[in-house]
Amino acid sequence: MGTTTARITRVSGQLPGPHSQALFERWEKAEAQCTGYQAPVVWDHASGCVVTDVDGNVFLDWTSGVLVTNVGHCHPDLVKAIQASAARLLNNYECLNEPRVEAAEKLVSVMPGHLDKCFFLSTGSETTEGAIRIMKRKTGKFEIVSFYGGFHGRTSAAASAGGMAGPKKGYGPALPGVIRVPFPYCYRCPFKAQPETCDMLCLDYLDDAVRANSTGSLAGVIVEAYLGAAGFIFAPDGWFPRLEQWLRAKGLLFTLDEVQSSFGRTGKFFAMEWESLQPDLVCIGKGIGSGYPVAAIGARGDVISALGRGEMSSTHGGNPGAGAAVSAVIDIMQREKLADNALRMGAIMKARLLQIQEKCPYIGDVRGKGLVMGVELVKDKRSKEPAPDLTRKLIDRAAQNGLLIGSVGIFGSVIRVAPPLVITEAEAHESLDLFEKALSEL
Ligand code: PMP
Repeated sequence: MGTTTARITRVSGQLPGPHSQALFERWEKAEAQCTGYQAPVVWDHASGCVVTDVDGNVFLDWTSGVLVTNVGHCHPDLVKAIQASAARLLNNYECLNEPRVEAAEKLVSVMPGHLDKCFFLSTGSETTEGAIRIMKRKTGKFEIVSFYGGFHGRTSAAASAGGMAGPKKGYGPALPGVIRVPFPYCYRCPFKAQPETCDMLCLDYLDDAVRANSTGSLAGVIVEAYLGAAGFIFAPDGWFPRLEQWLRAKGLLFTLDEVQSSFGRTGKFFAMEWESLQPDLVCIGKGIGSGYPVAAIGARGDVISALGRGEMSSTHGGNPGAGAAVSAVIDIMQREKLADNALRMGAIMKARLLQIQEKCPYIGDVRGKGLVMGVELVKDKRSKEPAPDLTRKLIDRAAQNGLLIGSVGIFGSVIRVAPPLVITEAEAHESLDLFEKALSEL
């Protein structure tokens, strides 16, 4: 199945290379070590899907940072826009700048029609915190529904709304008023049901849970378009529309966290387009700046207007560079039809991943849409026992072969297949060859 074009990747010697090793040693002395496990590689520069480390090793990238560089690493038009903007004006806080206006207009123009306003912030966590605040302010109520496995950031309300233990552990009680319910993780259904026959009984449970737990002060629901940090877990078709129906019948507001699913990642500009969802608020991050730190809330005007003047701000939100980056990214996405490429390349890659799964005893599940796919590793396909140790080993073996991958998952056992959306067919096949080789070395 390999490719006949010239090989892109090149790794000489054992990783980490000497320059990388020296930098790791200096770093460990100077900075707190609380980031997650990564391949032993120090990135130097990157272009498109290709990353070069400080030792001159060349890799293909399945990480996009962390689903960030959707238009490809260092897209020349994006770099030019950021450079030009930086030379003119770096920050003017809330005084208006022209790039901010242009970016807001462009962002509104690419969102589904009912979302007619946006607001720029710097990080995904700020957008989810902000959306939770807006839901409370608009309704005058304080409870929210969120999901097991959800990840909305590490700040206080975002972490409280999350359904993973990690961001909450050791900090005392989470915010009161959060009712968490199971997300349809069908590979590991908490009800031990089968998706073909369950009729989405998790939605019945949701109704029961709210009846039992709400004090009558429900403001809204926050949910990711797919569970990202929990392992790239997609709800079955029809689940979101039924959730939306339920929450509308209850008069609740709907926040869709698209921090990682927007900007073409799933093969549509926004994941909400797949099932024509109409959230009141959408959280946007990562790909919107494709490497420039910027994030935004997209909103129905009559909902976000619950905040008056002076009630939302962020030191770097809407800075001129962010505006320039957002406009450049939207232009590139449209000109290069990157959502379509994500769909096409995603289909090719998924088909091959499914073939690899058949031969490999450790791949329990392959799932995803467009260029966001999860490969869940297990010790045994029948018991489905998670295999986090094997996952780490695979990250190292893949890097040694020239492929950069990372992991996510409730059990830390899901490989992220999320390359920049500019990936070519040759790059897709070479990267899959490398993945297959790394698997064979476990
Ligand atoms: N929501 C989702 C769905 C995310 O994946 C993330 C980041 N992984 C966040 C929120 C938080 O974003 P940030 O790290 O930019 O604060």
